[in-house]
Amino acid sequence: EKKRTLIIVSNRLPLSLKKIDGSYESSLSSGGLVTALSGISSSTNVRWFGWPGINIEDPEERKIATKALAEKNGVGIFLDEKLAHSHYNDFSNGIAWPILHYQSGVSFDEDAWKAYQRVNEIFADAVASEVQNGDLVWVHDYHLLLFPAYLRSRLKELGKTNCPIGFTLHTPFPAEDFWRALPVHNELLEGVLACDLIGFHTDEYKRNFIECCSRGLDVKIEGGDIEYNGNKAHIGTFIVGIDPQKFTDGLLNPPVQQRVKDLEEVYKSKVVILGVDRLDYTKGLVQKLQGYEYFLQQHPELKQKVVLIQVAIPSREDVKEYQELEKELNTLVGKINGEHSTPYGTPIVYIHRSVSFTDLSALYRISDICLITSSRDGMNLVAAEFVACQKDRYGVLVLSELAGAAAFMGTGSITFNPSSGQQVCDSIYKAATMSREEKKTSYENLEEFVTTNTRSLANAAFTYPSLQKRVISTTMT
Ligand code: UDP
Repeated sequence: EKKRTLIIVSNRLPLSLKKIDGSYESSLSSGGLVTALSGISSSTNVRWFGWPGINIEDPEERKIATKALAEKNGVGIFLDEKLAHSHYNDFSNGIAWPILHYQSGVSFDEDAWKAYQRVNEIFADAVASEVQNGDLVWVHDYHLLLFPAYLRSRLKELGKTNCPIGFTLHTPFPAEDFWRALPVHNELLEGVLACDLIGFHTDEYKRNFIECCSRGLDVKIEGGDIEYNGNKAHIGTFIVGIDPQKFTDGLLNPPVQQRVKDLEEVYKSKVVILGVDRLDYTKGLVQKLQGYEYFLQQHPELKQKVVLIQVAIPSREDVKEYQELEKELNTLVGKINGEHSTPYGTPIVYIHRSVSFTDLSALYRISDICLITSSRDGMNLVAAEFVACQKDRYGVLVLSELAGAAAFMGTGSITFNPSSGQQVCDSIYKAATMSREEKKTSYENLEEFVTTNTRSLANAAFTYPSLQKRVISTTMT
């Protein structure tokens, strides 16, 4: 019996191509999705389809690159650079992302929409021609909302009717009245509804999606199933977890231990508040800094005793809103540090770069508080990573109630509404003054969640009945 193949499709391949002496080498890159899916590649045949990050025009060179990717089970979908830019920056990150995260004032752009459709078609063509009957296709995220319907119709034409399609959205899904602001809202829903299984991170996102479908389209909803255009899709909530062992093992590495020792020495008299975010407006960084400044103003007795170490990972720097935010943050950090620094130290250590895994693990380990202020956030894995590194130390998680993670880690953390600078300030104060007993109890709740929801997304996809149906019927005939 032939082993079935899992076809993963995401906008970006988790592989980076490097040109070395006229030849290409590919290596696995890091990222949330790679982490979330780790563990499955060992148990199944996996092929991962996506854009390799660069375009290669020369057909000979493209062949060599394709071979290099294939050695790591990757299939590169090459895109014209302008088209890729318009799909990724203009529509996916300039229009879809803000709507999914409740950002108002988004202006729709027909050219960007055309590029989005075109790239989804190109992806569908590439996958349809390679898929075998019985394979399982698993599509990820908001860059590919139209892809499932395009793929389904191509597969039908090719007679490949036993390929289940699953879709996971890694962002929030907004309420119906908000979603409707997008002129192509129904087209996007129709795209996803061609799946067998559609997964969201929280019940709230799932409910919103179902509501949008029932108001916008002629669907039949039964329990957790939505029937549309002759296809029945099951809608589910699947928690995305981390692999905590990656961090606990990492903390045992001598270079990490050395870094922990060094940093503990540097910050030995301080309460360390840590922030780790992509530089994105959904992370509420401006509100975080403002709330922190209130704290410095309102608690002069603690002012010399705290430091905020904020890692802001550069992100989407081709999009205007991100460039503006970067400037605003530079100014705000400068203003707060200018006002509150003393010869003994500065209240904010601002790291506007990505950090190595060694540095990240050490920072998670030595911090007393992790501060997450997202205005909206699909899940937020930083919350779980911090908890994984705090065994027996009982660091406090201060978590925005509007991050997906709050649906699961609300018990055990200090939750607050991040739009209010005063709430940010009060939550920091509460965390900084908690007794060890309180911290221990809270931490144990969080630890329980993090250690029991490992790799849950990957496992869920494999055992889900509606995904198995089509596969089983193939192996039996
Ligand atoms: N991270 C990173 N580079 C860094 C620091 C952190 O890639 O310099 C990782 C971090 O470990 C986490 C991810 O970035 O796994 C951020 O995921 P999260 O869900 O918190 O937010 P997202 O970026 O997906 O919105």
